Amino acid sequence: MLFIKSNQCGSRLLQRHVSSFHLKPLRINTRIKVLQLKMHQLPPNTVRLLSSSQVITSVVNVVKELTENSLDAEATSVDVKLENYGLDRVEVRDNGSGVRAEDAPVMGVRHFTSKISSHQDLESLQTYGFRGEALGSICAVAEVTVTTKTKEDDISTQYALDLSGNIVSQKPSHLGQGTTVSVQRLFKNLPVRRQFYSTTKKCKEELKKIQDVLMAFAIVKPELRVTLYHNKVMLWQKSKMADHRSALVATLGPNVVSHLQPFHHRHEDPEIILDGFLPKPGADLSLSSSSSADKAFIYVNDRPVQHKEITKMVRQHLGALQAEEARARFPTFVLRVSVSAAAVDVNLTPDKTQVLLHHKEAVLTAVEDLLVSLYGPQTSAKVQHAEEQPGLKAPKASSDSTKEIREDPTEKSKDIGAETSTNSKPRALVSTKEMKKGINTEASSHCPTSNNSSSSSIADDWIVDQIPANFSLCDDDEATQNFLTAANLDGNSLERLGGGLGAFSTEEWSRGTALRDPDSDKPLQPVTILRPSSEPAKDEDKSSPSSSRPISNAIIEKRAALTAYDVLANRAVRAPLSPAALFEKETRAEVVSDNPKASLHQINAAVREKWKTLSQEERQKFEDRAQKHMEHHEQARAASAETPRRVSAQGQKRKALSNQQLLDELFSAQPQKKLKNSVSKPSRTVGCSLASLRQNLPRLASSPPSAPLSPCPISRLASQGSWLLLAGHKLLVLNPFRVEEALLFQRLMDNNILPTVALKDPLPLTEESLGGAENMDALCSMEKQSPELDGSVVFSDLRLVANGFKIKLSPDRQQVQVTAMAECVPFLGLGDLREILTAVVQKKTRAVSGCRPLKVSNHLKGEAVRLVRQMPSHFSREEVSEILRRMETQLEQSHRTCLHERPFTHLLCELPSTEQEARAVATPLHL
Ligand code: ADP
Ligand code: MG
Repeated sequence: MLFIKSNQCGSRLLQRHVSSFHLKPLRINTRIKVLQLKMHQLPPNTVRLLSSSQVITSVVNVVKELTENSLDAEATSVDVKLENYGLDRVEVRDNGSGVRAEDAPVMGVRHFTSKISSHQDLESLQTYGFRGEALGSICAVAEVTVTTKTKEDDISTQYALDLSGNIVSQKPSHLGQGTTVSVQRLFKNLPVRRQFYSTTKKCKEELKKIQDVLMAFAIVKPELRVTLYHNKVMLWQKSKMADHRSALVATLGPNVVSHLQPFHHRHEDPEIILDGFLPKPGADLSLSSSSSADKAFIYVNDRPVQHKEITKMVRQHLGALQAEEARARFPTFVLRVSVSAAAVDVNLTPDKTQVLLHHKEAVLTAVEDLLVSLYGPQTSAKVQHAEEQPGLKAPKASSDSTKEIREDPTEKSKDIGAETSTNSKPRALVSTKEMKKGINTEASSHCPTSNNSSSSSIADDWIVDQIPANFSLCDDDEATQNFLTAANLDGNSLERLGGGLGAFSTEEWSRGTALRDPDSDKPLQPVTILRPSSEPAKDEDKSSPSSSRPISNAIIEKRAALTAYDVLANRAVRAPLSPAALFEKETRAEVVSDNPKASLHQINAAVREKWKTLSQEERQKFEDRAQKHMEHHEQARAASAETPRRVSAQGQKRKALSNQQLLDELFSAQPQKKLKNSVSKPSRTVGCSLASLRQNLPRLASSPPSAPLSPCPISRLASQGSWLLLAGHKLLVLNPFRVEEALLFQRLMDNNILPTVALKDPLPLTEESLGGAENMDALCSMEKQSPELDGSVVFSDLRLVANGFKIKLSPDRQQVQVTAMAECVPFLGLGDLREILTAVVQKKTRAVSGCRPLKVSNHLKGEAVRLVRQMPSHFSREEVSEILRRMETQLEQSHRTCLHERPFTHLLCELPSTEQEARAVATPLHL
């Protein structure tokens, strides 16, 4: 099959991705199957760009790859069965489209795929798989059978594949439509790898990882039914669900989900849509978190990925609201990032769990904005938290900075009220109390527990409660009540609920209108972002009287855009609002009070309609106010720009730098501003004019080529430690790190000896396993040590030893065994020993570097890169000269590319050698 993008133009594509988690059931099937094409081999240049060579390193890899294949085949049901933690058998059965008989002969052969045709197709990738390597890699380390039937086939066929993925036998089978891949005796030829699973602890960890992988798919694919069995015992299952929320409940359980809130956030240019579920501000993190990041479900275009920076951001924002002990935990959350397919590179790691976001900074900023809108600016939240906690002293300066950003004394009292209401714990508790009131036996009988729930039995973290059968179909409020019923809320926590607050509906609660200021009877705002100006915001108050203070819907509202100085100065300055945004803020409250039952969608539509029909004078009013906002904003910025040092002196600066990345990004995005405000740098005027340059250039050019032909360093460039070189008439930019890597790699190839680890069971070698009698003879004739006490002889030939093989000849000289092997090279095995011997026999190679197996040389490349990364970030002129000298003497001309096959140098320009050329060079200077 070939999956073809239906429409790559960003926003339409996103539209499909973003059937929001909470607003409506997801109609997700972003993969549009347009036509079925034969499976085909990828062209070599594409393979070179894609190849990962080692996809399968663990049982979890096998399960993930096979599940992805099932999902790519549009399966709606996937059963994963393991025996002996997957080492004896992994079976993944699906009800997908199946493999056509004519494709079967190549399905297990590396680089045959039906998903892409060339590297360019990655720009519009709609499938999980694309390298055509997984089945082939699994075949190389296990015994694989594939049973498959397409819609057109009458019966299914079972194919047995050999080590290279070719069919060795086939027979009819009784299975229905879909594909069942059975992987037996995994890592049978990789004793070191099997040894990795020698402890039960390791095996259990692997099982847990497998469940986590399946959970990730289960959450993002509500329509998917998944089961996981181990030794015929069902460990976990999730039924088909109607929407993401239900899928989440079925996967994580209602207790956890009751602590999460849905969100939807859109960022424009580049278009980024974020949606999912994050802990409610008042959620008890000890319930909605785990001790590792395994419940942080991050997806990029529905592909489960790991993203440390996003996880860290969420932790920081939530941690700021939590008690000390909860901060060490990892919050449970689901974050879907939807961007256009062309803006993601998934061809990064063999297991595809990391992606390269082309607009990473924009995505991180969007996430930061989202978090700020949900939890408030991080630093002030911390301050607030510290103030609330009697045991935790707020830093002195914090009260000052809090004071500094107050708007005026009247606002202050309101803020205090707001802060109390923002105090998340009581807020959540009040709501639960009120909601509990609504819970009756009827509600429970409405929602009997069912087998549709997820269940688990392996690790504590996995235990998920039974859930009500119709849970997924309830709307938010019912659902919340049902959560509470199912969760059997503990009585003590309810006792702690604050008294004195009138009853309110959960709807009011979710709209933020539940808590009201006792004086004005206006809804309290959950988060108030205060202006950093010390000057009272009279204008603003006049123009937006408190009676019409809007109900802030932090999720929908435009985000506060932080600037670098805001972060430095430890204060948030809200971006000025447009007239329409101001109108929306005000009108939303009216619309909600007029029609309390309106959905968010209806509210938005009503507000838009009102804006359209607004009279000219009214519109002008908002335009004036927007203008004032803008002025305030400018003032606030100016104020914060003037006093960053003061804040620093108060010891706050460090705290504010909670997100160095954001800061870096902000600085790089505001070069002029930085220049304007930075301390003036010492400068020197250099006598130079364009006219003299123009005169001198031709003279230089016409003078005999005195410039050296071998490259000589001129000056270091500011970025990336690059150097400007002059080689003859060529002006070049050199990346000295690339040269260092190549030099180091060459040294490692020549000399490095891989450390070995003794095998539990030595591996006997036969002519067959070594690839023929010739290879065995070559091995036996290699250099050996003198016999050991028991008469056995160890091979000392560097070509074996340096490549991580310790081989022994038995005392009776009848048996040759591998007794120890390198562990640092994943999957080192007999195939690699064969590779060494073949090089020795066929190329008569004596040098170690000439018979490094591919896996070993890849490992050494990685080592070279790693070691060079530890070097200082800049080289001096002398060092660069030395690097160049070593490059000349030690690297052959043909090897003068870096480990990633990129050139060491980049030609900037050729210096003119004739007057004419010089003029041509000089002409653009007229500009
Ligand atoms: P890739 O997924 O990168 O294409 P794989 O080695 O995982 O590479 O699979 C090779 C091909 O085998 C796939 O392109 C697909 O056409 C076919 N295939 C594998 N598993 C399945 C499955 N479960 N259902 C249908 N086709 C499958
Ligand atoms: Mg695949």
